[in-house]
Amino acid sequence: MRRPIGKLVAMRLDPRSPLVINTHELGRRPGSMRRIELAVPAPGDVGIEVLGVPEGSPVAIDMRLEAVMEGVLATGDTTVSLVGECARCLNPITDTLEVSFQELYVYPESEAEPDEAGRLDGDLFDLEPALRDAVVLALPFQPVCEPDCQGLCLECGVRLSDSPGHAHQEPADPRWASLLALQLDVASPSAGDEQTRSAGRETSTDEE
Ligand SMILES: [Zn+2]
Ligand SMILES: [Zn+2]
Repeated sequence: MRRPIGKLVAMRLDPRSPLVINTHELGRRPGSMRRIELAVPAPGDVGIEVLGVPEGSPVAIDMRLEAVMEGVLATGDTTVSLVGECARCLNPITDTLEVSFQELYVYPESEAEPDEAGRLDGDLFDLEPALRDAVVLALPFQPVCEPDCQGLCLECGVRLSDSPGHAHQEPADPRWASLLALQLDVASPSAGDEQTRSAGRETSTDEE
């Protein structure tokens, strides 16, 4: 029976943890492979401030483990649920995300220096850090509820996508007026075009 070399094992992985993977069946024969499909509850703290994976929500993982000279290469895809809020209008966002990952887990006694990779603890490795990194890297910094979300009216706070043609006759405060003009300039070539276009447009928020 193979045992981990004590001094190299800084932490002990819990084999019952859903994201701790056992590579024993590969038998350390380079080229041997195994496919694993998992459905596990999401660990906490996967995401960024405005968008993330709810803790305990289902995470699907389809992964291939391959024994290589220095360790075990894990390659796969994961599908997670996302919840967050639109960076423009603050509406809730729910979505799913599929991302790929690949990580090398070196054998406990290997001379190889895993930089970001992990090191096997006996036959075990913890997939969680790789999964977390793959998901976080794939998230948009500024999630939006729909690609053309127009955000909120700076004057009254109405969500502009819910209110086509929304406009105020006279801005209540000249300081807001200049901000409003600025926002409309960003959204379209001119404020007049913006109103015409919005008024004639069907509301298309079926997906929410
Ligand atoms: Zn929005
Ligand atoms: Zn308004």
